Amino acid sequence: MDKSALEISVRGVVQGVGFRPFVHRIAAACGLSGWVANTPGGVAVRVEGETGSLSRFRALLRKEIPPAARVTRLSMRKVPVSGLQGFEIRRSRTGGNALSTIPPDISTCRACLAELSDPGDRRYGYPFTNCTNCGPRFTIVSSLPYDRERTSMAAFPMCPACRREYENPLDRRFHAEPNACPECGPRLSLRGADGALLPAADPAGAAAEALVEGRIVAVRGLGGFQLAADATNEGAVRALRERKRREEKPFAVMFPDLDAARSAARIAKADESILLAPGAPILLCPSRASSPLAPAVSMGMPAVGVFLPYTPLHRILLSRAGRPLVMTSGNRTDEPIAIGNAEALSRLRGIADLFLLHDREVVQRADDSVVRRVGRGVYPIRRARGFVPAPVPLPRSFPDVAGLGGDLKSTFCFIREDAAYLSQHLGDLELVPARDFYAEAFRFFREFLDARLRAACHDLHPAYFTTAFAPNAGADRIFALQHHKAHVYSVLAETGFRGKAVGVAFDGTGYGEDGAIWGGEFFAVDGPEVTRAGQLSYFPLPGGDAAVREPWRTALSLLREVLGRRDAEGAARRLFPGVPGESTGLLLDALDKGINVAPTSSAGRLFDAASALCGLCTRAGFEGQAPMLLEGIASRRPAGTYPFTLSGENGLLAVHWNGMAAGLIADAMERVAPETIARRFHDTMAAAILSAASRLAETSGARHVILSGGVFQNATLLASVLTGLRRKKMVPLIHRQVPPNDGGISLGQAYYAALRVAGG
Ligand SMILES: [Zn+2]
Ligand SMILES: [Zn+2]
Ligand SMILES: [Zn+2]
Repeated sequence: MDKSALEISVRGVVQGVGFRPFVHRIAAACGLSGWVANTPGGVAVRVEGETGSLSRFRALLRKEIPPAARVTRLSMRKVPVSGLQGFEIRRSRTGGNALSTIPPDISTCRACLAELSDPGDRRYGYPFTNCTNCGPRFTIVSSLPYDRERTSMAAFPMCPACRREYENPLDRRFHAEPNACPECGPRLSLRGADGALLPAADPAGAAAEALVEGRIVAVRGLGGFQLAADATNEGAVRALRERKRREEKPFAVMFPDLDAARSAARIAKADESILLAPGAPILLCPSRASSPLAPAVSMGMPAVGVFLPYTPLHRILLSRAGRPLVMTSGNRTDEPIAIGNAEALSRLRGIADLFLLHDREVVQRADDSVVRRVGRGVYPIRRARGFVPAPVPLPRSFPDVAGLGGDLKSTFCFIREDAAYLSQHLGDLELVPARDFYAEAFRFFREFLDARLRAACHDLHPAYFTTAFAPNAGADRIFALQHHKAHVYSVLAETGFRGKAVGVAFDGTGYGEDGAIWGGEFFAVDGPEVTRAGQLSYFPLPGGDAAVREPWRTALSLLREVLGRRDAEGAARRLFPGVPGESTGLLLDALDKGINVAPTSSAGRLFDAASALCGLCTRAGFEGQAPMLLEGIASRRPAGTYPFTLSGENGLLAVHWNGMAAGLIADAMERVAPETIARRFHDTMAAAILSAASRLAETSGARHVILSGGVFQNATLLASVLTGLRRKKMVPLIHRQVPPNDGGISLGQAYYAALRVAGG
């Protein structure tokens, strides 16, 4: 008989997801001998047998991979037949890079769900059911290598039945490190608002009942505590807002199932696979007018964050409550989420009426991830639970480096070989607890990757915590990279693009190389070099942070630029009736004298100003509210654009917004419908981006256009820029793995440092 042998190397998320048992199973089915083992970067397979069986094996290996696995590279080579007998799963060799062996947390699989609702199964109704295809991973790991003894499951010795499953290579729970059952595994408990233990035979059922009665329940989830409330109960949702001190930012809603979600949001076919994917993120979907959700959930925003139960505990809670639940991070606004029982009982005291606890420690804190859908793919907004620590694959190998991120929506990133490992979303680093979380997570990643950092790269901003942190990163060299360049490099890292391109980075704020506040930037990209090539023309931004909280301030500055001081005062009285004349007068004085005023090219602030001028948002309850409201009302029908001009100044292309601002202000003064103004504004911004990008592309001969920065979270703007680029036969490069907002800049910084170090 014709025999041959193959050596196969598989890379990607292939450990802790049932890949080895899968290979064992298909090898046995094909009658092959050999072995499978985890390696530092993936899984290695050796198979031999009849040539026909080998090709059947190869087909199955490609086609039937476990649902939570993600193969980024699969290579095979023929080797001499060596007469191996039987098939075995070999002991792991993990080498230095232990992080690559830890998958992200995986939402409950079908088989486990079936057991959960099967009265005959020994795990019937058990809220911690899991297997090699699903369950907690990253959030329970405390040290390396990834096995049960080094997770928070170490506290639960397996009962004989669980151990048999764990040791049987043909069982779905073979080496499922968090394997557990009602006999031996974690258990729920219930505590009252004062922290006193409440006797309950069925804690999850009691919690669901309390939710239905309109109470707020703190639930210990996968990556930390969540605060739950009945999403159809206006009083309950308002109480949650008040107690959490979160006045206006929309809440995400967990629905019992897809059908329930459809009643509140428009969910396309392509959205379903995102909601049902192993990472189970929150997906931003357009709300339905007939939505059963309480108005206080979305606070007038046109989109709702939808997600589905991703642990058995969530599944039980949602089906027992029989209604959608607000599920929001268990914290007070701006603090990291609580993870420990005692911590939650003290920090969430006064917020929660009831605490649904369990005794499996959460080791790694991770918020729920948030995504949008663009085209058929995921477009990340916040990357945490279900995504971290899966790496972003890079086009080639690099020395160890780190990017330290920024202070808002902070993440950091390590590059190790040909993969970039981003931390989970760490939040805004204004308060000490968030900074501690950052430093702790950084230590953990450095240790798990066994990284010897040749370089670390931080933002140019002198006052950022992450800038001050740089000397503590333990790197040989330190680089600083301008904020918007980091946005552009993050797309280069993700796409592996090399060559000529135009980079567009539009966001709220980034410290510029000239000390100005940048935020509407164009770059010439040539291989690894990124140079500033254009900008929105500068306008005076009064008083930094105050302008972000009160968009009328930026709007007033535009009024003054367009109309002059005297007319600006009158226009402000008309357009911002809620703002006292005294305040506008003082601010105009400051602008005249240039006191506490910085030049800015911020596109985000232009959106703020447009929103204020339309009368939508003069004071913002949270960052991004003004542009979100503006996008939300923009009419679906095109209504023309405002004028804008381009000019060359000192080798930089300048996009002048004055014509646009003048047109917009005139519309606002004439009480043109805000829907029309909003649409015109969006279309003008898109047209300005398109014409500046094509002008720069002509000059350099580029065909590709990179789009990054928080402004591109705006789906309306992004869609019209994408359409426009394709019409011009240009190729857009956008984010698919990290957020376009500041959550993605650490990847860009790390990639920049890697290119610098590798280039010598
Ligand atoms: Zn499972
Ligand atoms: Zn057990
Ligand atoms: Zn930014």
